[in-house]
Amino acid sequence: MTRSTTRTHCPYCSLNCGFDLRTEDGVIVDLDRWKQSPLTQGGLCVKGTTAHEQVDHEDRLRSPLVKRNGRLVEATWDEALDAAAAGFRTIAEAHGPDANALLSGGSLTNEKVYLLGKFARLAMRTRHVDYNGRFCMAAAGKANMMAFGADRMMTPLDELRNAEVVVVIGAHISAAFPVALPKYLNLVRRTGGTVIVVDPRAGRFVKPEDLHIALEPGTDAIFFNGLLREIARRGYIDRNFVNTRTTGFEEALASALPFDPETVQRIADVPIAALEQAAELIGGTTRCMFLHGRGPEQQLSGTSNVLSIINVGLACGHVGRPGAGVNMLTGQRNGQGGREWGQRCDQLPAGRSIRDPKHRRTVAARWGVEPHDIPDAGDSYVEILDAAGRREVRGLLSICTNMAVSAPDVRRVDEQLASLDHLVVVDPFLSESARHADVVLPGSTFAEEAGTITTLEGRVIRIDQVVAPVAGVDDMGIIRALAARLGAADHFAHESPAAVFDEMRAVSAGGPIDYSGITLDRLRRDDGVFWPCPSLDHPGTPQLYRERFAHADGLARFHPIVPTEPLDSVDDGYPIVLTTGRLLAQFLSANQTGRIERLQKVAPGPYVELHPETARAYSISKDDRVRITSRQATVDVPWRSNRGLRYDTLFMPYHWPECNVLVSADLDPLSKIPGFKYTAVRIESSRAEIDLRERRDTGSSAAIVSESKK
Ligand code: SF4
Repeated sequence: MTRSTTRTHCPYCSLNCGFDLRTEDGVIVDLDRWKQSPLTQGGLCVKGTTAHEQVDHEDRLRSPLVKRNGRLVEATWDEALDAAAAGFRTIAEAHGPDANALLSGGSLTNEKVYLLGKFARLAMRTRHVDYNGRFCMAAAGKANMMAFGADRMMTPLDELRNAEVVVVIGAHISAAFPVALPKYLNLVRRTGGTVIVVDPRAGRFVKPEDLHIALEPGTDAIFFNGLLREIARRGYIDRNFVNTRTTGFEEALASALPFDPETVQRIADVPIAALEQAAELIGGTTRCMFLHGRGPEQQLSGTSNVLSIINVGLACGHVGRPGAGVNMLTGQRNGQGGREWGQRCDQLPAGRSIRDPKHRRTVAARWGVEPHDIPDAGDSYVEILDAAGRREVRGLLSICTNMAVSAPDVRRVDEQLASLDHLVVVDPFLSESARHADVVLPGSTFAEEAGTITTLEGRVIRIDQVVAPVAGVDDMGIIRALAARLGAADHFAHESPAAVFDEMRAVSAGGPIDYSGITLDRLRRDDGVFWPCPSLDHPGTPQLYRERFAHADGLARFHPIVPTEPLDSVDDGYPIVLTTGRLLAQFLSANQTGRIERLQKVAPGPYVELHPETARAYSISKDDRVRITSRQATVDVPWRSNRGLRYDTLFMPYHWPECNVLVSADLDPLSKIPGFKYTAVRIESSRAEIDLRERRDTGSSAAIVSESKK
């Protein structure tokens, strides 16, 4: 028997907890904690301890599938790859290359992200390529680019040890960042510091001694404008920092002046005393760390909301010094690298701008093409699906993203996918989106491939292959084989992920996201390297912006914020706000985690959380189901009580389609992120017989009942 142990990282969230996988004769038999793993030091949540169970799961796709006579049937790799490529070729010849599109995921290795961006542009020759980070990190990334000139967490999380005040904004730490962060928050509390939580929903991580500001959903920018005004009134503006390191402060402050404490209390439902206490705590220390998650970001004003937080941090000078920073908490495993390496519609690899002629020239030279061979910026994720609905996009390659569950207004997504002429889905398991596929190609799991990942901190880490892909071909092999069939083999001749990484380092040299000094050997030896790292002897850059920001003039930008009403606002017909988010025991569309027995036991299906007083007010009894109606649809789900919610707010986990069927497909105009965190709904007890128009085959007791009329 051959035994081996391989060091790797959990495939789910951006903390990337490390562990060792043990194999016997090429089969994973167990997982051991890696006690010194970067940041999380052996910590694992329930998803991590079961992550390896997906690799040899009985549901794995082990053979390609091709649709024949309306049914997906097994095919050889050659048959399936030929069919996949032929469909894209036929569409491009008849309607032009932009009639094809590519959508991908935020869990892919940097190498696959890079290859997919290159594949879309040089093999499919389409400008329409985007990824599901559009649903999570788009607003934070856009705001960081606008304010600081770069899109990365500015402070390593270990700096939380030095923080006196931590402000957690719309980040459900217990479910989404369950390892490391709770320990840091406890350390802050134990050493006399304060945790401020700004969120309509309290999680288990919120302690009685914390200052919990349960603001009304959709009022983040109103609260932070009010906070900026109050901090200025108390004389806590760091004038030296503002004058020497930033521009635009006076305009930003002027935009905040209308938001006096009474106005904030009236609109955002934040007590005056709470606003004043927050201003005193944040303004009265030099060591304040802001951590924002999807709460303020997944709104139609997501970018403005983040900018309003950044305005407060900059005004107090909480940047680039010990225990301080304004930091976004990236969600998916490679949400950070996913937005660096060129799978976004408006960006080339290494953060190079698709619109900047100099950047286009650099990338074109490395790719061996002319700048005009690289298509211009294309549509974002939801816009691509919309274009499919209009029959402007007719062919779609979907890799490791499951829009039939994860995109907003999923009923419409079903129709959009059905209207495609050609859909190719690459995934380790048959997903809901694959129901519409013409070709399904078995994708790789985290243990079946090598590469690199960039964690939420901006730390590049190494992934080693543990076992061979169960279907015989890994994702990189699929990309190469499709490229060859589309006449672009020369651009994808890399023999290994290491060769791809070398090309990426070269493309990044001297650019905004410089990996050129990072080698795979260093990644193993140093347990990761933070970018920018421009030379082999450079130590990497854990802390950004100590001396200057990433804008050409080195200054950070304030932005005036004028809060807007949500488009899908509450009214008499839809008086309650539905907000959505993640559960600890599931991940994204549950296409992987939903098949792991231990996780399914903990989180078996959709439900809604209500405050018990809300349930009482609507005469909803313990065993009732709740009928929820938005302007998009109606669903019928079981409910659970949560005293940590506001009376006027519901929470639904987004791992099942019953959630996103309710959410509108409207987008933040700046970042194109959907407004998952704010949907106006009404509720009633659902005791009546219902017309089950659709039911998922997970055996869940929930149902999508009907489409509501706008
Ligand atoms: Fe760690 Fe996140 Fe994996 Fe849980 S899901 S083990 S917190 S990386």
